[in-house]
Amino acid sequence: MNDKLKQQSNFFSETFSEEETKRLDRQLRLPGWNQKALKNSVVVIAGIGGLGTEIAKNMAMAGVGTLHLIDLDIIEYSNLNRQILFSDADEGEPKSKVAARALKKINPHSKYVWHYSNLEDVSPEIYATADLLIAGLDSVTARSELIRRAVHFQKPMIDGGTATYYGHVYTYFPGKNACLQCDPQTERERETLAACTLVGIPRKRSHCLLKGQLFFESKNNRPPDTSVKEEMIIVLDYANNLAKEHFSEQGLFTLDEVVKMVDQHDPTIITINAVIASLQSQEALKILHHVKGIKLGTINTDYVIYNGLVGKFFYIEKPPNKKCMLCGSNATIIEEVTIPETSTVDMLLSIIKNKDYKYDPECEPSFWLIDKKDPEDIELDKTLKEQSIRNFETLYVTGLLKNNEEIDLYIRLKLR
Ligand SMILES: [Zn+2]
Repeated sequence: MNDKLKQQSNFFSETFSEEETKRLDRQLRLPGWNQKALKNSVVVIAGIGGLGTEIAKNMAMAGVGTLHLIDLDIIEYSNLNRQILFSDADEGEPKSKVAARALKKINPHSKYVWHYSNLEDVSPEIYATADLLIAGLDSVTARSELIRRAVHFQKPMIDGGTATYYGHVYTYFPGKNACLQCDPQTERERETLAACTLVGIPRKRSHCLLKGQLFFESKNNRPPDTSVKEEMIIVLDYANNLAKEHFSEQGLFTLDEVVKMVDQHDPTIITINAVIASLQSQEALKILHHVKGIKLGTINTDYVIYNGLVGKFFYIEKPPNKKCMLCGSNATIIEEVTIPETSTVDMLLSIIKNKDYKYDPECEPSFWLIDKKDPEDIELDKTLKEQSIRNFETLYVTGLLKNNEEIDLYIRLKLR
């Protein structure tokens, strides 16, 4: 198939209608370009926000054949300063749905599949059959979920992020450069941890604010709402009492500082979004050639930081951590098993035993679904179908032995 693709003429391909050829005329002339490779590509875009809408627009205009758009959010007015696919009239509608509708107008020749969902509830088959995963996500948790899927299905993943006038782009290839867990704790997590574990005395002025927020959460079992002034004042008063006591020389907090700290949404602007999303998109177009055996340029595997205030890029090499529990040599082994969906989990076990895994006589093996939001225990005597186990679902198995050593295992299921 790769040879066929390589020989394919951009201009006389039977894959494209006359209208499509005219539309794409300028890019068909690019040296090294293979439009058919893009048309045959499937891309997952996780997060259809500031970055995701721009990336989806770019992928659609470039003629990528199938886009899966995943987002759990609905459209809010605060999205409209940078999210090109949405307008006032769409407020309250799912982002993924409205994006798919808008993209169809931008390029009707591609397929747009929308998922109003979190990453876990999307069928694992979507990730398994995609050529590339692209993240436009704003949370560490969601990024970790996506990167785990990149590792399990051995897919490249292009991450991006923006904060104020800065942004980053990072293309991850499982095993080749560092995953998120190779260096797991972000600065904010470390700060939060420090604030949470501090008994009584805040070490830094910023800990006073975090403690104010934790105080509110402990009283109300929920985070404070940034749109309710009274709640912000409770956090402010608590923080300022601590600040007065421990950091009196540095002054008190303002209400604005409290809102910015409690609200995790970083301020951002369309220009930084557009730069980062464009960089992600350009790397994506090259990767979609590469995964089909067509060499177009080289992929940048460094962590790239863009500083929009000085107009400069910075590059950090990120070698993988060999000891990483997700992608290093200590990571749980993945075995792929093809099996009819009418099989019981017991039958699955006998297949695994043929791969030199044994029962641990001391402990019955147990199976867990780990791709769902909450890991679920599954039963040995029921069929995979009866337990709604999806194609390409990953099972986590404990209580097996290999070479007489206790071992945990991932089984990636291909259902027939
Ligand atoms: Zn890693």
